[in-house]
Amino acid sequence: MSSTLTLRSWLKHLAASDRLAVVREHVPLKHRLAAIAKNLDGSKAAFFPRPGGHAIPIVSGFMARREWIAEAMNVPESELLARFRHAAEHPVPWREVGREAAPVQTVVHDKDIDIRALLPIPTHSEHDSGPYITAGLLIARNPKTGIQNVSIIRIQVNSKDRMAVLILPRHLFTFYQAADAKGEALPVAIVIGVDPLTLLASQAIMPIDHDELEIAGALHGAPLAVVKCLSSEVRVPAGAEIVIEGRLLPGVRETEGPFGEFPKYYSDVEEREVIAIDLVSHRKDPIYHTIIPAEMEHLLLGAIPREATLLAHLQRSFPGVLDVHLSEGGVCRYHLFVKFSKKREGESKNVIMCALGAHYDVKHVVVVDDDVDVHDPKQVEWAIATRFQADRDLIVVSGAQGSILDPSTTVATSGRAASAQLEGVSAKMGLDATRPLSYAGHIFTKVKIPGEDEVDLDQELAAAPGIDWEKRLVE
Ligand code: MN
Repeated sequence: MSSTLTLRSWLKHLAASDRLAVVREHVPLKHRLAAIAKNLDGSKAAFFPRPGGHAIPIVSGFMARREWIAEAMNVPESELLARFRHAAEHPVPWREVGREAAPVQTVVHDKDIDIRALLPIPTHSEHDSGPYITAGLLIARNPKTGIQNVSIIRIQVNSKDRMAVLILPRHLFTFYQAADAKGEALPVAIVIGVDPLTLLASQAIMPIDHDELEIAGALHGAPLAVVKCLSSEVRVPAGAEIVIEGRLLPGVRETEGPFGEFPKYYSDVEEREVIAIDLVSHRKDPIYHTIIPAEMEHLLLGAIPREATLLAHLQRSFPGVLDVHLSEGGVCRYHLFVKFSKKREGESKNVIMCALGAHYDVKHVVVVDDDVDVHDPKQVEWAIATRFQADRDLIVVSGAQGSILDPSTTVATSGRAASAQLEGVSAKMGLDATRPLSYAGHIFTKVKIPGEDEVDLDQELAAAPGIDWEKRLVE
């Protein structure tokens, strides 16, 4: 795919290679749509014409495989993390265009807005409180510096023009606190339906005042075209499908939740921040994107930038770190597998300590040797089964900061009220599954048959049809 990659060109590309399933019309927005998309997850993207009878179609799951993401980035899968890291380290500033060159501002709704009628917003999981926008890139400007931040947060639709959101304590939270302290609203834009690379860039783990849209430019190899919002100074991708413009209100809270989140559990009902909607703009015939919570598109969009960051972090201290993987079984957040070329005894335990401190979501770390593929959980389990002794190779840390969405942290805070879960106090565990540097004979040599990797089965089997092997069976 080229630098002109758009959501629409990507969908066409997927369709041309039989990776886009067009579902029947009028699929109900409540549960049914998400159920169908979940069944297609990781095999085909899903396109829903007239969902719930709505004129705007919905797409889901177009970034639900690691190889598709590599393909969108135009690199082999093995170079995915290096490419993302390079883009994060070499951002490309965006270029501003006027409204006439911004398809996303072709149609504007600025009066009597009812978001529930304007957009087809699905209700996803069984115990969700109602419809949620799950693929909205929330863009805001730092009130102190004017530099933008992009993040995807969950957005509960409360009424025709109000939405409640979960803001984790990162950059957007800092902006909101600064505005809230002065009793001012924070202008925001929620962008739905962007190209695969901008979607991925939104998840980059960067310091504050690093605009994720510049990483999108770097991934594209060209500045991203942006346009000024019609009601604020926020800049949004000009080629997006839909933009909701609004304000995070100071001092206002409304109930939000429950909502089925990435660990495949629900977060509880809480009083949370509120966005008032001022305006909705969109393309002439827009496409709405929904991410099915806890499925591969959701998990991978978080995993790739995290892996790239964790790999860079570990390699700074340990050049022998060759690869990292956040496994699917660990919801692409909690379980980190590290491929490591150990040069001195004990080093692998230092790698564990470094990894556990690198991100609060990392809960269990397994370090393996360079003959183990960290992308294959069976090989990692094999290393634990044969190269790990719990009394020598296990590291446990009690009472560290973990993920607030990990339900087992409730127990870790020794049976306090449900709100204790939000503190996310968690144990951490590291497994050193590397073999000793020196050992007798071949006791730690992985069994291999010479030539097993070079066998060309087509060639070896080509002559067989002419051989009358059944004659050998005659008694
Ligand atoms: Mn940021």
